[in-house]
Amino acid sequence: MIRARNVSKSFGDTHAVRDLSFSVNEGEIFGIVGPDGAGKSTLLRMVAGILPPNKGSIEVGGVDAASDPFTIKENLAYMPQRFGLYEDLTVEENIHFFGRVFGVSRREIAEREKGLYEFSRLGPFKDRLAGKLSGGMKQKLGLACSLVHRPKLILLDEPTNGVDPVSRREFWKILYGLLAEGVTIVVSTAYLDEAERCNRVALMYEGRFIVTGTPGEIKSGTGRTLVEIRPSDVWKAEEALKESGEFGFVIREGRALRFFVDDAKRADRRIRTVLSRKGIRAGAAETKVPTLENCFMEIISGGGNR
Ligand code: ADP
Repeated sequence: MIRARNVSKSFGDTHAVRDLSFSVNEGEIFGIVGPDGAGKSTLLRMVAGILPPNKGSIEVGGVDAASDPFTIKENLAYMPQRFGLYEDLTVEENIHFFGRVFGVSRREIAEREKGLYEFSRLGPFKDRLAGKLSGGMKQKLGLACSLVHRPKLILLDEPTNGVDPVSRREFWKILYGLLAEGVTIVVSTAYLDEAERCNRVALMYEGRFIVTGTPGEIKSGTGRTLVEIRPSDVWKAEEALKESGEFGFVIREGRALRFFVDDAKRADRRIRTVLSRKGIRAGAAETKVPTLENCFMEIISGGGNR
């Protein structure tokens, strides 16, 4: 569905996207995960044909995004972080408006409306002004408006940013529903729990994809083991481990410290040596199953296999 080759985009001295090549398969949900400023929005805008790359090319359904943006726009929906809903129009009026903008006939809009209300559960609110909706409902309305022309591909830029956890879960249910209908989805997020819900994920950092794969592949692909210790003094222990420079990224969770090691057994001895020098006691290092977040931190701290 998408094939990007050596795509770069700079704004002055800021290299927002650096020499990216990747593809997205038809019918999958592909997550672009990374912190603020990683380049996610810039990348999505280029895929949507809104922003031309400085270098490289992006094809959407075999059509070049920069040279033929009108053709690709017929088949895709792009939902930016701030989708331009008309707050002084009702839910229904917004759907009608965006339908007309996408060139959908009034008759077709009327036919599709029911389905859009069903999946978004906005039916009971169709006469409410968009400006009076909650954050989560606004995002659902934005999605409904983006879908009125039945796109094959949807690009969602941090759609659940600032949305409460219940609405986030509901939003993801909607995405899975679309996926079941054969729509291809690309979604950016800063939430790593959302990344776990994607078929494939790219971890984006400073304009690059650091690693791409299924969540399972990424978790096993760091090639290292996550261990946890519960030291007598967690603060001092954290400092001692960092100071030693042997253990890479250390994550503190309550009274426990977690970090990646090459070999859990050998590390166990080293940990005790480092800690006992500072008078800190700790039980044996326990092996843990990492979350994607743990792996991401490990990878961007430079410890993992790239
Ligand atoms: P993300 O979506 O991951 O937060 P962005 O793509 O918005 O990242 O931004 C990547 C980098 O490019 C940031 O340093 C940002 O300040 C810069 N940037 C993005 N858009 C523009 C623009 N229109 N003009 C100047 N700099 C920009």
